[in-house]
Amino acid sequence: MAKVLKVLIYPDSVLRQKAIAVSEFGKSLAEFVEDMSETMYMYKGIGLAANQVGELKRVFILDTEWRERTEETKKVDKNPIAYINPEIISLEGSIEYEEGCLSIPQVYGLVERSETIGVRYQDVTGKSFEKELSGLNAIAFQHELDHLNGVMFFDHLSAFKRRTLLEKFNKMQLEKDRDSKGD
Ligand SMILES: [Zn+2]
Repeated sequence: MAKVLKVLIYPDSVLRQKAIAVSEFGKSLAEFVEDMSETMYMYKGIGLAANQVGELKRVFILDTEWRERTEETKKVDKNPIAYINPEIISLEGSIEYEEGCLSIPQVYGLVERSETIGVRYQDVTGKSFEKELSGLNAIAFQHELDHLNGVMFFDHLSAFKRRTLLEKFNKMQLEKDRDSKGD
């Protein structure tokens, strides 16, 4: 049965490392992807990269629609897609979106990304695919691919906005630590 993995929180150093290409496609990769899905849904994310659960493998999963469907229809309709060794082969246009991240919870920033991207990736069996993504799928793909290269979404913000976001996050962490100590 799939299990919920521990999500690393910034500034964990694994979040700043580059993940390594996957060369073995088998049962353990499929199980890892299932655990990642379980974890993403548990934390109500729309994407999760392997770095975020402490594995330096070029793997991420996306399901950008499930929260919307859940709210509208009151039923859980999940469709996680695993992207193994993902790459971007074309970029077009630009789009801004208020991004957040499970590894730096409760802070958000407006990031500019390409609006439409052509991507290439493998599935858990090693089969190669190419497709075009746009809108939220394109945004989330670029956010997760950044994770595999040790990049966080706030790296795309201006120095001032980045500092403000990190100060806010650090302050919340300190308050959380104080609350959990009960004084
Ligand atoms: Zn993230």
